[in-house]
Amino acid sequence: MTRSGIAYDLHRLAEGRKLMIGGLDVPFDKGSVGHSDGDVLSHAICDALLGAAGLGDIGTHFPDTDAKWKGASSLLFLQHTRKLLDERSLRIIHVDSVVICERPKLGPHFPAMREVLAKSLGVSLEQINLKAKTNEGLGELGRGEAIAAYAIATLEG
Ligand SMILES: [Zn+2]
Repeated sequence: MTRSGIAYDLHRLAEGRKLMIGGLDVPFDKGSVGHSDGDVLSHAICDALLGAAGLGDIGTHFPDTDAKWKGASSLLFLQHTRKLLDERSLRIIHVDSVVICERPKLGPHFPAMREVLAKSLGVSLEQINLKAKTNEGLGELGRGEAIAAYAIATLEG
């Protein structure tokens, strides 16, 4: 059986924080606010995978009330999710995603992000697709107050 999962995530951006996206520390004057490292892309991918597996959502598996996840690398969430999929004999076929922010430009960072994400999920580069959009200057995303991501994951099992 083939199944898909969809996800959306958003984090506020603030000065004095790291901007972690797809497991990479992207140089920028602001970073994402969150209990873990605030990695909007990893969170969206994780949630899409959990959705496709029928395993609820990221908040259930990695609650922000749990001190264990404070400042944690979101790549741990991906690795743990991969384990949950393995236990259920679910195979990742493909992950597609969109990251929405006005700045910085993400395209140049995508090759390295794909490598990190593919490694964390135990899949090949071709199974991870990343896209970037601006919000045309509109709303909180357009004003650089937040960063958002959508992801869809397809599993087989
Ligand atoms: Zn998040």
